[in-house]
Order: sequence, then structure tokens, then C-alpha cells
Amino acid sequence: MNKLLFWIVVLGVGFLIWKIVSSRARIDPGDAGARRAGAAGRRGRRDRQRAELMIECAQCGVHVPSAEALEADGRSFCCAEHRDAYRRDR
Ligand SMILES: [Zn+2]
Repeated sequence: MNKLLFWIVVLGVGFLIWKIVSSRARIDPGDAGARRAGAAGRRGRRDRQRAELMIECAQCGVHVPSAEALEADGRSFCCAEHRDAYRRDR
């Protein structure tokens, strides 16, 4: 019975350590992760940061990545059709 308790504690501590390590890697991928992965890791981080910046289309309200958004008249659009439609509607 004591042996069973021992293994439950060992598995619990191991699980906690794994959770801490994996959550830390998710929060800060730049440190050990990117250094290990080199340029590919840095590129992946940059892509993810750019993808997180979403801009709302002034015409349809769809959120698009800022890299894909079109800017016109100080507003952002998801595509050229909506940019032209917005200009027509005004
Ligand atoms: Zn749109």
C-alpha cells in the first residue's frame, strides 16, 4: 500500500514538473526554444506575433491578419472588393 502511495506521489510530481515546463515553453518560446531551433524558431515566433495582430474589415467586420489587410482612407479592409464597396457606399 505504501508502495502504491509512493508511485502516485512520484507520478503527481512528475506531472506537475511537466506542466510547469510545458507552460513555461509556451509563454516564453524565445529563450531556450528559439536558441535550440535557431533561425527557424525565430521565424516561427515572428510569424505567430504577426498572425496575432488582427484587423477588422470596415466593410464586413471580418478580422484578418494585419499582413493581409488592405489600408485605404485610414481604414482597413479584408480584400479589394470590400475596400471598393466601402468607397462606393459612402
Ligand atoms: Zn471585408
